[in-house]
Amino acid sequence: MNAGSAAQRRTNWAGNVSFGAPELHRPATLSELQGIVARVGKIRVLGTGHSFNDIADSPGAQVSLAGLPPETEVDSAASVVRTSAGLRYGELARRLDQKGFALRNLASLPHISVAGACATATHGSGAANQNLAAAITGLELIGADGDIVEVRREDDWFEGAVVHLGALGAVVSLVLEVVPSFDVSQRVYENLPLEVLDDHFTDIMAGAYSVSLFTDWRGPRFTQVWVKQRVGDPAQAAPATRADQRAQAVSPGQAASPIPTAPSITQESWFTAAAASAARHPVPGLPPDTCTAQLGVPGPWYARLPHFRPELTPSAGDELQSEYLLPVELAVPALHELDRIRDRLAPVLSICEIRVVAADQLWLSPSYLRDTVAFHFTWIPDSASVLPVVTLAEHMLAAFGARPHWGKLFTVSAEDLRSSYERLPDFLDLMRRYDPAGKFRNSYTDRCLGR
Ligand SMILES: Cc1cc2nc3c(=O)[nH]c(=O)nc-3n(C[C@H](O)[C@H](O)[C@H](O)COP(=O)(O)OP(=O)(O)OC[C@H]3O[C@@H](n4cnc5c(N)ncnc54)[C@H](O)[C@@H]3O)c2cc1C
Repeated sequence: MNAGSAAQRRTNWAGNVSFGAPELHRPATLSELQGIVARVGKIRVLGTGHSFNDIADSPGAQVSLAGLPPETEVDSAASVVRTSAGLRYGELARRLDQKGFALRNLASLPHISVAGACATATHGSGAANQNLAAAITGLELIGADGDIVEVRREDDWFEGAVVHLGALGAVVSLVLEVVPSFDVSQRVYENLPLEVLDDHFTDIMAGAYSVSLFTDWRGPRFTQVWVKQRVGDPAQAAPATRADQRAQAVSPGQAASPIPTAPSITQESWFTAAAASAARHPVPGLPPDTCTAQLGVPGPWYARLPHFRPELTPSAGDELQSEYLLPVELAVPALHELDRIRDRLAPVLSICEIRVVAADQLWLSPSYLRDTVAFHFTWIPDSASVLPVVTLAEHMLAAFGARPHWGKLFTVSAEDLRSSYERLPDFLDLMRRYDPAGKFRNSYTDRCLGR
């Protein structure tokens, strides 16, 4: 056994959660892990600790899988990879690329573990890109009695078990779909007025493989647009928009609208936003050294899809995060609502990022059965000032059917979670089936899911 002492303060990456778990195990073999799970009364797996709440904490044991052999095995014919659960995306990506394969998408940070990210439905951006867990075709977990359980896409409850919040068992390996390796070029554009989104939101977000809008809410505008384009993709011509149609209806002599009347995506501009002349960090004023290469220089998928470089650790822990996902068609009215509380957001905000995520069928995914827009907030590291604003923003966004990201800060009640995540009662049944004695429950699951 390799248990840590309770006296030693252990925290999540952000440092805002001190883990109360009295024991931390770090098994070196699968059978050692099976023995620990079978023996203890309560247990939760700790991934890389990048969640901003107590989701990974445990009233009993915590176990890290980082000491298990980091195995990956590509099946080229089936276009899948079987990977150890504790591997970080950065390492998995490097191994896949060496064999000529890629994952469809990545989150902004490659330092997170594959199992931990999928457990909370972590996502990147792209109108056609689903969250990272949607790539899973199978997983293997250690159940409450220490035995190995296999879950495959053909199983009835598969779609319930993929985004599992750590509540079904200790996942030891995952099978993920892969695609042939591809190159991506990335450009940053600056200063996009909010009003441009009124008629062009869909075109702006669907104009490239992955698009992110950033704002500090110090004005009704986006400070940066990060555009990631697959090299070799045909130019994504945006369809005619409502504004274009209105412009065509304007009679000669009438004043022209200051908003572009035709899709305007070029190397120099993304609608009215102009290409940045040098590399940028999403937070204005911060040096871009930790960020992936920009200025349109092509590079491998794993070195462009995340915003941050795998070999460098960005601003470790100096922030808090919240995120809410709502139906994509409500993006523009919801952004205008947020604009109304800009004076409350800006003082506690480091940066806000807007992304889109394609619908999936995973019960606890915030994109379950709906294409979504994700409103992400990176807050200053001051919980006392931030939490009232989190509650204000989520009250406002509740009217738009927002679902909170499971791994970030939120104050939504269990009742409201149950109404926004309609398959939550089914997931509770699954928890009872996999773990009747509640070995994998913790105060987070009791608080958010119910008992
Ligand atoms: C700087 C930063 C950037 C981020 N960027 C994004 C982003 O772009 N998009 C996004 O959606 N999210 C993002 N996140 C959130 C992050 O992806 C999630 O919080 C994710 O869960 C972190 O993975 P982890 O390995 O650190 O998991 P942890 O926080 O350690 O654990 C999360 C949950 O997974 C469970 N778990 C972990 N491993 C296993 C396992 N092997 N078996 C069973 N359960 C397990 C834990 O028990 C817990 O319930 C970001 C976070 C940070 C700090």
